[in-house]
Amino acid sequence: LSTWSAVPAGPPDPILGVSEAFKADKDPRKINLGVGAYRDEHGKPYVLNSVKKAENIIASSNPDKEYLPITGLADFTKAAVKLAYGTDSAPLQANSVAVTQSISGTGALRIGGAFLGRFYPHSKTIYLPTPSWGNHTPIFRDSGLEVKTYRYFDKKTVGLDFAGLKEDLKNMPEKTIVLFHACAHNPTGVDPTPEQWKEISDIVKEKQLFPFFDMAYQGFASGDFARDAFAVRHFVSQGHQVVVSQSFAKNMGLYGERVGAFSLVTADPEEKARVESQLKIVVRPMYSNPPLSGARVAATILNHEGLYTEWENEVKHMANRIISMRHKLYDNLVAQGTPGEWGHIKSQIGMFSFTGLTTPQTKILAEKAHIYMTADGRISMAGLNGHNIDYFSENVSNVVK
Ligand code: PMP
Repeated sequence: LSTWSAVPAGPPDPILGVSEAFKADKDPRKINLGVGAYRDEHGKPYVLNSVKKAENIIASSNPDKEYLPITGLADFTKAAVKLAYGTDSAPLQANSVAVTQSISGTGALRIGGAFLGRFYPHSKTIYLPTPSWGNHTPIFRDSGLEVKTYRYFDKKTVGLDFAGLKEDLKNMPEKTIVLFHACAHNPTGVDPTPEQWKEISDIVKEKQLFPFFDMAYQGFASGDFARDAFAVRHFVSQGHQVVVSQSFAKNMGLYGERVGAFSLVTADPEEKARVESQLKIVVRPMYSNPPLSGARVAATILNHEGLYTEWENEVKHMANRIISMRHKLYDNLVAQGTPGEWGHIKSQIGMFSFTGLTTPQTKILAEKAHIYMTADGRISMAGLNGHNIDYFSENVSNVVK
């Protein structure tokens, strides 16, 4: 008998499983709207020019392959927190932001979960929005926190359930940890407005809640880094001790390079040093130190004036292409007399749109039209382009009719 004979088969990953079904489909019209990775106007993966140039600069400097420190490449982490908090941020100027490089956004969330699990002095429960990115629950559960939820999305309006959200925040026990998507909420594409963020910040202050920001899409929502960081920067300006997880997977297209950062606002440089010493103790037994190549690329872009500007323009281009697809899809669905209200396609933000398509409809689209998306009706807008959007709209229209 094998040692592992009692190991049950686990369910496939709900998002990565979609890509497998897509790969197996041989129809030339097939479209993959499952995974959240940017595609160019020809449906191809996109390596940013700023990234290619940074790689050339790095290659010509003939760098070594030594280990990074446990908390990663300082040129990268310093620049990463500047991007998130803003150069003029008070805690950055006071040198009180603790930071470690991470294995992309997922790793940042996991380090954050582990650190809070070990040192957060109050209830070790984290509240997630309903719905949230599917990986949030297992990440925080596996890092030792209890996971609960708060209301976020209103199915009826396909928009924000702001009243429900506020009521749930107000009813949480004081000092509870709450996870917010900093921008471009995944999977709904629905973000609070700046005014609503201000109200949320006030409630968080009143209830002494502890804000954990997941910032996986900075720049991707509006094309503007500062605008997309509004929530984080507003909370910091209001004196909240935020923690932030950052990913450079989407905005630099560095998906497989695994470049991210986890940071915390502390009281002063002395406290920062203590916190960073403990971050090292969290990281060391997990993977010793983070990967080098992607962090070098990100650091080169973030610290090079010309490349930074070029990168900014490329992020704007990606964000704008997605926005133009939203408009085209909306126009098509309306022109085809598709039953229902489709305004949310245009008003939603970032990589994803929650279409409102039902699970049976998503199944029909996969089987009959070779169009793949997650069963909750979420589509990655970046998978649409001038060549496939008419085919896609037509089939959505038909399945709804
Ligand atoms: N948070 C959210 C909300 C995400 O959508 C993602 C990517 N799908 C991540 C974090 C982390 O992604 P990565 O680990 O690739 O940076």
